[in-house]
Amino acid sequence: MFLRRRFCSLTCANSRDTLKKGTFHWRARRLRQPKCEACGRTTSLHVHHLDGVPSHNDPSNLQTLCVTCHNFWHDTLSRLGLPTAGRMPALF
Ligand SMILES: [Zn+2]
Ligand SMILES: [Zn+2]
Repeated sequence: MFLRRRFCSLTCANSRDTLKKGTFHWRARRLRQPKCEACGRTTSLHVHHLDGVPSHNDPSNLQTLCVTCHNFWHDTLSRLGLPTAGRMPALF
C-alpha cells in the first residue's frame, strides 16, 4: 500500500516554498488569494487544486485554503470516498 497523501498534490502541500520561479508552483502561488477562502485565515496558506491536477493552474481550478482547512477538506473528501476534487465551501 502507498502512504495516504495528505494533499491533492505537491503543489498544494508546498505552495509556501520560495524560489521556485518559472514553475507551475510559482504561477499557482501568484494566483493565491491573501486569505483562506473557507475560514478567512491569513497565515499558512496553501493553494488547493479543485480537480487534483497539480499542473492545472487556471484560476478557476485553484482555491486558497489555510493548512487547517486544506487538511480538513482532503480528509473529508477521502472519508466520503470522493475523488480529490471540489471546492471547499466558505465557513463564514
Ligand atoms: Zn482556513
Ligand atoms: Zn488540495
